[in-house]
Amino acid sequence: MNVYEEIGVRTVINACGSVTRLGGAPISPGALAAFTGAAGAAVPLEELQAAASRILAGVTGAEAAIVTSGASSALTLGAAAILAGLDPGRMERLPETSGFPNEFIVAREQRNGYDHAVRAAGARLVEVGCNELVAGSGVRRTEPWEYEAAIGPNTAGVLYVHAADARPRLEEVAALARRKGLPVLVDAAAELPPKRNLTALIQAGADLVAFSGGKALRGPQSTGILCGKRRLVASALLQMLDMDDHPELWSPPRELIDRSEIAGMPRHGIGRGFKVSKEEIAALVAAVRAFQQGAYDEEVALYRPRLARLAKDLEGLPLSTRIVAPDDEEQFPVLQIATHDSGRDAMEICRRLRDGEPRIFVGHARLHEGYLVIHPLCLRETDFAEIARRIREETSGEPRSRGA
Ligand SMILES: *Cc1c(COP(=O)(O)O)cnc(C)c1O
Repeated sequence: MNVYEEIGVRTVINACGSVTRLGGAPISPGALAAFTGAAGAAVPLEELQAAASRILAGVTGAEAAIVTSGASSALTLGAAAILAGLDPGRMERLPETSGFPNEFIVAREQRNGYDHAVRAAGARLVEVGCNELVAGSGVRRTEPWEYEAAIGPNTAGVLYVHAADARPRLEEVAALARRKGLPVLVDAAAELPPKRNLTALIQAGADLVAFSGGKALRGPQSTGILCGKRRLVASALLQMLDMDDHPELWSPPRELIDRSEIAGMPRHGIGRGFKVSKEEIAALVAAVRAFQQGAYDEEVALYRPRLARLAKDLEGLPLSTRIVAPDDEEQFPVLQIATHDSGRDAMEICRRLRDGEPRIFVGHARLHEGYLVIHPLCLRETDFAEIARRIREETSGEPRSRGA
């Protein structure tokens, strides 16, 4: 009996990839060993974060980096750092921002559910551009001049959600922000792989970048990275750390937090609830090193043949399958299964797969278009045959009436 069965929870086969709702990506063996190894001793967390910063700065090319409780909290902390800088008075007031700049400019087409994390710090989002492509009303994306035209006395920074096809390109947005003295906070939570993004976004001029630790990095699901300019990362760390010590005794690691730059010792900040444990910090550092050194590459190379085998196992059914594989071989291939000829509704098949035995969660991003998607990241080798068997059961023979 596994630990979940012991407490009465049925496990699922996760064919969705590293989605948070199903517990994220499988933690890597190296990260798990580091997690266990870290549990046996006590360590000052600010020193551990400074050590993690040295290593993660080396990996990302940033001045500094800390381990956060997910990319989402990295966004809140990054926004808090931009809003407060190293001013303990501002740190104390957040998310209250009256009296200092609090606007973050963001492209309307980049707005998403995670911008709540930025607003939570006290930021007010100012949208620029249109979303013509989604509206089906035009061909143009957001343009650099639109950011520039929105900058005013209340502008604190720029929020940018990275994707390979995001427009305008990060280089352009970062360059215009730099000319205006404004920092750029980049959400790159799911932008790894490719490995080159560990350094590329900092190189493109981002002041702060948030990565998720529980996606393809395969650290603990509850981790993330905030990397970038040292003063901003220091501010973020100060607003996350537990600050219950005597100012006379407080001696943070100087290479990250220089006391002479701060007017006084801040109290618990807006990020105090985003606690990261010593075990999580140690595990995330191990995971990042493994990812960077290519420890997962061999496994990633198996995904394509496994998906091809699954496609073959589905032959003869009223489905058509296609492996969608990006040119970049670091990116994960997925198997797209079109259900249009099956006489069944993709949403209904998805529901039945979730409710069946074993419980199978397939990728659900394209159900409305009639596609099931199989993402290989969280699948064990034996899962593929189970998926084929269950899809066969749900799609062969006469379509069941809905809800039957
Ligand atoms: C997953 C994701 C996040 C949140 O990352 P967590 O590490 O789960 O907090 C934020 N932004 C985007 C674009 C994401 O895909």
